[in-house]
Amino acid sequence: MGPIGLVNGEIIDLGDKIVEMEDRGYQFGDGVYEVTRVYNGRCFCLRQHMDRLYRSLRELSIPATYTFEELAEFHDRLIEKSGLTTAAVYLQITRGVAPRAHGFPDKVTPRLTMSIRPNRSTPELTEAGAKGVFVPDLRWLRCDIKSINLLGNMLAKQQAKAAGAFEGVQVRDGAVTEGSSSNFFIVRDGILWTHPVNNLILRGITRTVLIDELAPRLGLTVVEKTFDVPFAKKADEAFVCGTNSEIVPLVTMDADKIGEGRPGPVTLKLTEALLQKIEAECGGR
Ligand code: PMP
Repeated sequence: MGPIGLVNGEIIDLGDKIVEMEDRGYQFGDGVYEVTRVYNGRCFCLRQHMDRLYRSLRELSIPATYTFEELAEFHDRLIEKSGLTTAAVYLQITRGVAPRAHGFPDKVTPRLTMSIRPNRSTPELTEAGAKGVFVPDLRWLRCDIKSINLLGNMLAKQQAKAAGAFEGVQVRDGAVTEGSSSNFFIVRDGILWTHPVNNLILRGITRTVLIDELAPRLGLTVVEKTFDVPFAKKADEAFVCGTNSEIVPLVTMDADKIGEGRPGPVTLKLTEALLQKIEAECGGR
């Protein structure tokens, strides 16, 4: 079987032509999304991802037409039909199909599309660390909404890719915000620092797990305050975290070594704690 997806509750072949020309997601980027990891055939932190999805929908006044139970069933159905056990599920809801006009249409039904693809953890990056670069944050002022408009994020990732780096860490008005598809943390004197939750970053599920569960369990203090590039470069450790990347140590930023230039003890402890939580919730990974 080739890659599969799901449209408004029906399983489809991902090659099927399902995008309508006047879907507002296609024409305006008028929609929101989530990506949930599947370990051992089970979704990790699905409730948290769907709660964030509902928040993104609310912020854009897109009606939520599916219950959590329905969305959970769609995830399970895709996992079962695909036969994949280590995967990522992409879910997108657009405002729907209507004649092209900027204002919201009076009558429109949101459109749900989903897909599932194999995915895997990257222990080689945990071990060796990766390269990061600081890039300008070109995005709009509602980065807290998980919008399908990702031009700024794409340009940041592409700038990193062109520099041979794993991630582009964005900087707005001198403050380090977040990665193109991840949240950014530094460790200084055993204390974790990360950008506070506001309209300038996405409140990552992985970030929340780290701050609310893992750091307290490990006795680590987290400071949610803005900091600049020189402050970040003086860190002992740096890492990015996200659903897709889990935790990836950044051992150089631009041309500069961070700390000793290899993954540090705090990053490794947090990684171990995250993997344990995945094991506990999904029964394997
Ligand atoms: N920030 C941005 C801009 C992202 O795209 C992502 C990935 N969804 C994250 C942070 C990390 O969020 P999460 O841990 O929920 O994947």
